[in-house]
Amino acid sequence: MAFYLSILTILSLCVVFCIIKSYSSTKEVAQSVRLLLYVLFIPVAANVVIAVSDSRVVNLGANIFYLVGTNIVLCALIRYVREYCEYEKTFLENVAYLTFALDSISVCLNPVFGHVFSVKATDLPDNPIYYLIDSRWYHFVHLALSFIVIVGIVAAVVWKIIYTSNLYVDRYIAVVVALSVVVVIEFKNVLTKATYNNSMFGIMICGLMIYFCTIEYHNFFLTHKMFDKVFQNISSAAFFFDNKFNCLYMNPYSSKMFDIEPGDLETPKRYLLDFIKDNGLDGQESFVRTKKLDKISGDRIFQIDFKRLEDKHGKLMGAYVIVQDRTDKEKKAALDRYRADHDMMTDLLNPRAFHVEAERILNEYPDDEYLILTSNIKEFKLINDVFGREAGDGILIKIAALMKKHAVPGTACARLGADKFAMLIQKKNYNENELSDYLNQMRWFEDKREFPVCIHVGVYEVIDRSVSSSLMVDRAFMAINRIKNDNVTKIAWYNDEMRRSLIWEQTISGSLDEAIETRQIVPFVQAQVDATGKVEGAEVLVRWQHPTEGLMAPGRFIDILEKDGRIVNLDMFMWEEACRILRRWIDAGRTDLYLSVNISPKDFYFVDVYKIFTELIKKYELDPKMLRLEITESVMMSDVDMKMKLIDNLREAGFIVEMDDFGSGYSSLNLLKDMPVDILKIDMQFLRKTRNAERAKIILQQIVCMAHKLIIPVITEGVETEEQLNFLTGIGCEMFQGYYFAKPVSLEEFENRYFAA
Ligand code: C2E
Ligand code: CA
Ligand code: CA
Repeated sequence: MAFYLSILTILSLCVVFCIIKSYSSTKEVAQSVRLLLYVLFIPVAANVVIAVSDSRVVNLGANIFYLVGTNIVLCALIRYVREYCEYEKTFLENVAYLTFALDSISVCLNPVFGHVFSVKATDLPDNPIYYLIDSRWYHFVHLALSFIVIVGIVAAVVWKIIYTSNLYVDRYIAVVVALSVVVVIEFKNVLTKATYNNSMFGIMICGLMIYFCTIEYHNFFLTHKMFDKVFQNISSAAFFFDNKFNCLYMNPYSSKMFDIEPGDLETPKRYLLDFIKDNGLDGQESFVRTKKLDKISGDRIFQIDFKRLEDKHGKLMGAYVIVQDRTDKEKKAALDRYRADHDMMTDLLNPRAFHVEAERILNEYPDDEYLILTSNIKEFKLINDVFGREAGDGILIKIAALMKKHAVPGTACARLGADKFAMLIQKKNYNENELSDYLNQMRWFEDKREFPVCIHVGVYEVIDRSVSSSLMVDRAFMAINRIKNDNVTKIAWYNDEMRRSLIWEQTISGSLDEAIETRQIVPFVQAQVDATGKVEGAEVLVRWQHPTEGLMAPGRFIDILEKDGRIVNLDMFMWEEACRILRRWIDAGRTDLYLSVNISPKDFYFVDVYKIFTELIKKYELDPKMLRLEITESVMMSDVDMKMKLIDNLREAGFIVEMDDFGSGYSSLNLLKDMPVDILKIDMQFLRKTRNAERAKIILQQIVCMAHKLIIPVITEGVETEEQLNFLTGIGCEMFQGYYFAKPVSLEEFENRYFAA
């Protein structure tokens, strides 16, 4: 008896504990569980009374209370199972409640009808008066009813078991088991008519089990499965460790990534501990590390993310490690970085990256001597046009290969664009002879034939490091500029002289317009005479009366102006000046003199030469014969047909066209065949003193002879001595220009000299 009561007390305390705990659960079903636990106490209390009371009346009442109590417990169980199994409430449930209500009323009427049970006293050793229940017909009805309901409830749960995911069945099975225990105990009780109603233990244990599997139970298998599902789909390895770094879980990807047998949880622990040790870590802090590992499939880069997990008191609960294979991402990122910095065709740096790298190197090694080399392929466009782009690319790749060959650490090589390259190299690694040999041997092979490729290299010595690398590169190119038309000299060093000349070029170009306006540009004239020394006319030669430089000869500025096309402004001014002079001379009665003007090849690009001259003639009312036009053979370098036509037109309009500097170019004779000129002006180089003076004389003689045969008069310039004059007259030259007769002089001086008489 005492044993029975103490077990019951312990179980009751457990139930009370569960009731209290259920209040902190957020699960919806918690309320039904709690209700079930509460109502358990009705039959239990009734049973205790039955056990301890020796009054027959009390026993009768307690038994009624017990039977009604079991009805209430079953009602609570119905509600709980419905909610637990997530069934909709049905009509059947209400029928059950109603049945239990009627049954309870019927049981309560037992004192009146005695149709349920009666009690009879029995003798027990520790409790002399114990009343045993003596069932009447309705008691069996009641039991049958209860049995049917319990079977229904069990069926409902079994149904759930069948139709729910395998992962969840255990929580329902637990409930079925609990209910089955109760049923078995209850029936054993009823059938054996045991002295003590052990079913109370069953009921309470069942209540506790229900509480447990509903409120407290966590399906670790389920969690594990879910982990698997989630982590199976991520392409990273995931490991979970306890606070002693025992591996609790690893996802399937981990086994693949690290060749660990699935289920082998020892290896991850070993790996983690080794990693922590090898990296000087203590595992007490979270960390992220990138590690390169050798795999059979090649080097792979892993990112290891170790996270410590702490409880709310900051104590280590465990840790998890996520390992991501970043090889592909890193490779792509590296490729992107590479692409951003490199020229794809040659694999050299691009200009932006080159300047960054050059400046980095120069800052890092302030004591080493450096050079900046730049290169440019002569007539690269022509190579592309003639041999095709592939040939062009092939040459670029060849140059890049040469640069790479010499790119020891601390060197930066770049393709700046098109055919331009740049290189920062230590002075001690630069070998000019070797480079020169290479440049001289540079060939392009096509159809077993070889073509020389002329590459010019500019060298800038890095002395002042405050100069930006892009300026250094500019200066190296400036050096190339000086030799760009040279096929022999292929390497040029930048020097300050070049910088000065560049500044000079800019000054000249920039101040030309103003110089014309302010009459700093003035025409000088140099007489042209016949064999007797009689002045027939003069050549108009430009002079620049510069405010700081003094009187400048054209040699100092013509080339510069030709380069940037401004020559046309100067020439147009000079042509008009010539016309104005002629007009003045005519007005003064000197109609016998002509003036010849120079036309730069560039003029043809920019203006309609024919239109200008015809308009000038009209404007100043001149006879076109008085204006001679000096053009050089270089005019014929391009658009030959168009220019032939133009010259024809000018001649038809009455102008006399002279071929200037005849014999100084490459194809003078060839041109003479087609070029429709009135006069040949033989270049003064034939008269200069050279080792081959005799040969020059022969050539000169032949030119004059040939011209005569073509009925083209010749004028020889640069006559400085009587001897030269005699020779020239001897071979039949008719006209002369040179210091022997007169130097170019101002107009005033010219007029004073020749008009005075
Ligand atoms: P150019 O047309 O061949 O002019 C003849 C040059 O030879 C002139 O030099 C003249 O001073 C020089 N000269 C004449 N006789 C002798 C001599 O006996 N000995 C020596 N050593 N030199 C002599 P300048 O005036 O310095 O002109 C140089 C070049 O500048 C000209 O060569 C011409 O190509 C160009 N030039 C001059 N004025 C103009 C111009 O108005 N327009 C254009 N486009 N070019 C011009
Ligand atoms: Ca001339
Ligand atoms: Ca000339």
